[in-house]
Amino acid sequence: MTTLWIFFIFMNMDGFLKIAVCKETRDQVLIITPTTQEQVDILKNVTSQYETALWQPVSPVYMKEQAEVHLFVPGESFETVTSLLQDHDITHRVSLPNVNELIEMQTMNGTDPRSTSTFYERYHRLEDIYDWLNRTAHDNPRTVKTILVGSSHEKRPLYALKLSFSDRPNRKAMWIDCGIHAREWISPAFCLWFVHHSLSFYNYNKEITDILNNMDVYVLPVMNPDGYKYTWTTNRMWRKNRAPSHNPKCVGVDLNRNFDANWCTEGALPYPCSEIYCGAFPESEPESRAVADFLRQHKDSIQLYISIHSYSQMLLFPYSCTLEEAGNHNDLLEMVQEAARKIRTFYRSTYKYGAGAKTIYLAPGGSDDWAYDLGIKYSFTFELQDRGEYGFLLPPSRIGNACNEALTAVKTIALKVMEKTQAPKSPAAV
Ligand SMILES: [Zn+2]
Repeated sequence: MTTLWIFFIFMNMDGFLKIAVCKETRDQVLIITPTTQEQVDILKNVTSQYETALWQPVSPVYMKEQAEVHLFVPGESFETVTSLLQDHDITHRVSLPNVNELIEMQTMNGTDPRSTSTFYERYHRLEDIYDWLNRTAHDNPRTVKTILVGSSHEKRPLYALKLSFSDRPNRKAMWIDCGIHAREWISPAFCLWFVHHSLSFYNYNKEITDILNNMDVYVLPVMNPDGYKYTWTTNRMWRKNRAPSHNPKCVGVDLNRNFDANWCTEGALPYPCSEIYCGAFPESEPESRAVADFLRQHKDSIQLYISIHSYSQMLLFPYSCTLEEAGNHNDLLEMVQEAARKIRTFYRSTYKYGAGAKTIYLAPGGSDDWAYDLGIKYSFTFELQDRGEYGFLLPPSRIGNACNEALTAVKTIALKVMEKTQAPKSPAAV
């Protein structure tokens, strides 16, 4: 009897240990707030020495006292990382204890028969997005064309859609790109959402009708297809493209540091292992070169450039590569201010706004600054939902809301651009 009893206890302890071990080996996201420079330095070491992925800020170079750090910690490193933080009294808490479940939720992709979400309220694999591009162009032959803008390092095509609802001569245009950074899944989801909204509500919604009557719209849903594919197959936290470097251990260039705008100065790094690696030279990457070439070829018609990112809820404009003000700073400020005001009124969400460098930090080599210097004087980067609750793992149930907020900003700004650049059509002007 005694023997049996002891055996029972062991069984239970074994069960208990298993549960405890399971809990500790799960991938989690920590919110950490260093309060002294010493703690900042320790945190920098922790993130570079252990396998982790920085969510915010994107690189240790941006870490500073009293600024929140959002850090993804894989199960294997979790105990070591948290005990290091504890040893040095660094304030931290778990913000996402269930990363694996969230990833599963993002990739379920409507396979749950009880799901009532539409195609546009789900995240999609790269192959499904290519199918969608073809289908959309095929189903709307008079208004939608597929344009091959270039190809990625791994030779995947970069397709943009051109939405063209009017045949007025000398029409102006706007450009929207999504998915420069692979792990920001809400970004490609927005490009799909925008196209769907345009096709469904032309002639029904006054704002989108006015915009499409006046402008063609180019939409590039996935600017970094190799990286995006990699986030679905191998590493959900991947940010850069997948170009190999001279260091076989470190892959990828940050495409949003690869444009020729104060290239590779403070806020970017020349090291291939860094998340903000600027590449070997400006436009060294086929993805950034393809977009730059297209914009150069169409710079006389494109008036508005918008690049979609996540997360942190911000509406940004040039410059990010310098603290200097853009020539039309006040116009740009007025536009994002109005967009943020509308988002707050309609959706009760707060978006920060302003020039990139002053609102977040110096970030040279970005596409919006480069497009601005090319002559596209209305140039923006939007950071979509959320502000860190789920970060890159925004659940599919939040896609609709996040996209509607961004859509409000796009429409508000596009209408303002039309107002500022196009002559009023009054009878007196005829
Ligand atoms: Zn981004």
